[in-house]
Amino acid sequence: MSRGLWHPGLLAGRPDGEPGLLRNFVGGAFTGSAKTFTKSSPVTGEALFEVAEADAGTVDAAVDAARAALRGPWGRMGEQQRAAVLRRVADELERRFEDVVAAEIGDTGKSVTQARTLDVPRGAANFRAFADIAASTPTESFTTVTADGGRALNYAVRKPVGVVAVIVPWNLPLLLLTWKVAPALACGNTVVVKPSEETPSSATLLAEVMAAAGVPDGVFNLVHGFGPDSAGEFLTRHPGVDAITFTGESATGSAIGKVAADGVKAVSFELGGKNAGLVFADADLDAAVEGSVRSSFTNGGQVCLCTERLYVQRPVFEEFAQRLAERAGGLAFGWPSDEATGNIPLISRQHREKVLGHYRLAREEGATVLAGGGVPVFGDARDGGWYVQPTVLTGLGPQTRTNREEIFGPVCHIAPFDDEDEAFALANDSEYGLAATVWTRDVGRAHRAGAALDAGLVWVNTWFLRDLRTPFGGMKASGVGREGGVHSLDFYTELTNVCVQL
Ligand code: NAD
Repeated sequence: MSRGLWHPGLLAGRPDGEPGLLRNFVGGAFTGSAKTFTKSSPVTGEALFEVAEADAGTVDAAVDAARAALRGPWGRMGEQQRAAVLRRVADELERRFEDVVAAEIGDTGKSVTQARTLDVPRGAANFRAFADIAASTPTESFTTVTADGGRALNYAVRKPVGVVAVIVPWNLPLLLLTWKVAPALACGNTVVVKPSEETPSSATLLAEVMAAAGVPDGVFNLVHGFGPDSAGEFLTRHPGVDAITFTGESATGSAIGKVAADGVKAVSFELGGKNAGLVFADADLDAAVEGSVRSSFTNGGQVCLCTERLYVQRPVFEEFAQRLAERAGGLAFGWPSDEATGNIPLISRQHREKVLGHYRLAREEGATVLAGGGVPVFGDARDGGWYVQPTVLTGLGPQTRTNREEIFGPVCHIAPFDDEDEAFALANDSEYGLAATVWTRDVGRAHRAGAALDAGLVWVNTWFLRDLRTPFGGMKASGVGREGGVHSLDFYTELTNVCVQL
């Protein structure tokens, strides 16, 4: 296997059998299209393969196939049978584990360690979790109440929403895709998925996994392409789509929301963040430094939950800032196949320009750069890739663009605070409300933070840890609705209230 480019070997075994071209998956068959686009390696910048871009006709066919499948064997299955199918999908994903790892690494340049320990295991875990959740939800929670003094039986029937459009971004491709596909299928829906144009591979492999696991034709459909005037927009505008579940930028969510409103479609939005981390002087400082390295630089900072604003209580500010900057500057740049790699490339040339633009802007706004701030030089093929240095900034006020706009790169700004009220106010001073992380030994403060912070998730002395049954989502510009556990069941089902006069 070559060091950075995991695709050449993988393509020989492509599900569509055509090396060098990834295709759409409609009604159980791989289909090409008149137009293709090129996917490049974030590690070296070189072209990897072509992807068939779905036109409006292909999207029509995918939605038609999904609707037809609702009337087929899938629509007649009970939740226990569907759960058994989802468990087979998880088994099959695990059987193809290394292929999927290679697909994730090839598309994103992420490290083999992360793909093997997070992205791919979570893909399988999502199917198992939602198989269990859908199959074990007590029916008592939504049936049999009496009306008219016991002379009527009034209850609710939970039904699939229908055809669900699943549109996801590139940062954790398989994890985010399966996080939505698994509950949608567990509830009896059919899906048309549109992965990011930057990460088409694991979704294509998932199509093959679905077929091998015995998921009936038309239940899982895949269309490749872009957003506006391409597969994404064709899908969201399609009258045959009943609900849209979307993860991506807040501005894209807003655009899709307008289209969804025209079609009166249900939406679930998991959007951007500008997450705060609060380090109190009573915290375990070693844990806070290591936790902040993870929360700011994991996946090249390209996780919606990453911390871009760090506030540190004044007595420990200098020490914390110095230690964080040292750790950021010392993160290893390897090839994706090197297990110790601490930095990964950004996803595309365009995204790197955006992040480097923010590095320049921070300097113009008057920031002091404590670590990084530029582009690493390797002297090998990686110089053609989309790497930037992990960067720690300080010296800017809360109203600067650096502290307000989501950068989505390996960067955080660090500033001091004096007391708890100020810390909570600084954290809440944002258009976003996705996640917050608090480092403290004071258990009372931990619970006060949970109540006071305007964020869908509050972590105390940890980060990126969650039981899949708990609610996930964001406040303010970070999202609409919650998924996870029964919250997913609420989005992916409709309720019919039945009242029978006895
Ligand atoms: P993006 O919004 O540019 O694209 C996301 C997906 O939407 C892609 O598949 C894209 O092709 C599609 N798309 C774009 N415009 C569209 C349109 N008009 N109609 C239909 N589809 C359209 O986001 P991105 O750059 O791929 O991902 C990064 C963003 O995702 C960041 O803002 C990050 O915070 C966010 N994100 C949020 C979560 C969460 O759970 N809240 C998780 C991961 C990423």
